[in-house]
Amino acid sequence: MGRPLVAEIDLDALRHNYCLACDLAPTSQALAVIKADAYGHGAVACAHALSDLVPAFAVACIEEAEVLRQGSIDKPIVLLEGIFTPDELPRVEALGLWLAVHSDWQVDALLAYQPRSPVPVWIKVDSGMHRLGFPPKCLPDVWHRLQDAPDRVTDLHLMSHFATADLLDDGYFHHQMGLLEALATELDAPTCLANSPATLAWPRAHGAWNRPGVMLYGSDPLEGANDASRKLKPVMTLRSEIIAVRDIEAGEPVGYGGRWIAPRCSRIGVVAAGYGDGYDRHALDGTPVLVDGQRTSLAGKVSMDMLTVDLTDLPQAGIGSRVVLWGQDPDGAILSIDEVARHCDTISYTLLTGVLPRVPRRYR
Ligand code: PLP
Repeated sequence: MGRPLVAEIDLDALRHNYCLACDLAPTSQALAVIKADAYGHGAVACAHALSDLVPAFAVACIEEAEVLRQGSIDKPIVLLEGIFTPDELPRVEALGLWLAVHSDWQVDALLAYQPRSPVPVWIKVDSGMHRLGFPPKCLPDVWHRLQDAPDRVTDLHLMSHFATADLLDDGYFHHQMGLLEALATELDAPTCLANSPATLAWPRAHGAWNRPGVMLYGSDPLEGANDASRKLKPVMTLRSEIIAVRDIEAGEPVGYGGRWIAPRCSRIGVVAAGYGDGYDRHALDGTPVLVDGQRTSLAGKVSMDMLTVDLTDLPQAGIGSRVVLWGQDPDGAILSIDEVARHCDTISYTLLTGVLPRVPRRYR
């Protein structure tokens, strides 16, 4: 028996969330974004679980696409961030990737390269994120240059990324949308715009393709949940056990720095999980935890290999009790990763992608 810490991955929940993304946008196709090892869930396993549902996957870089091909994933894969160099085009072609392009030098490289069959290309426009993409005024020229080379590129799409689609009362999203709608109309271009929050909350952004990421894994990216996001199911459960119990007097400190001071005679449970596993060290006292399906909270700072929880009001809990750090307990209780993230002053994306390799993934 090893260390009782595992990241359980519920592949049915993953499929449910993907189907939700499709139901919300019935006239769009949905890419499944499985970059960063499927947000920490294991890209090859997740891709196989989704393979009969999805028309294409999206990753950030060629290396991630190679892992999928080595794992026998043969569906189209989009290189979402447009990270490639001209000398990598033969590799892109051999792997059968679709490309996003964001800079003139990439267009020049594509036009100088003669592939055996034309490469599908999505043109990134910077509609307000100010990260990657062509300025809107340059787009018609780029579009027509590529359109005029049908032996080299095909399936041109207009692609852009939203800075604030998660904020439900924000005007900037509509500013970006206005620019994009004008461009799409001018060029008669099919679009791929919507990330998870836009898939969940903004039908206006639904295009020929959408590209949901974090919602596939059951995290709600919206600032306030809506009817759609409430249907998401958690995919990863970070599960451990109580490995020791301490009874301490009122006034006694717990953990590094002695920051948590027992307000009364307390029972402290020690859990086999720490920042060396990816559990965020910034988690504050009061961060929720499920023990045998009951809510309690962290007491004291997170250590590398363990953390401590307050069991004072859970007298039945003891060594071997089930601990859920986020996800779903077998009795059905759910601890949302978004709630845990708020207590760590972070977002679910960093918690999910931060679960380290020493935590075994177990698929069900
Ligand atoms: N599209 C692009 C270009 C991205 O960079 C990302 C994520 O970082 C996504 C889509 C998916 O975003 P989300 O996980 O918020 O759905």
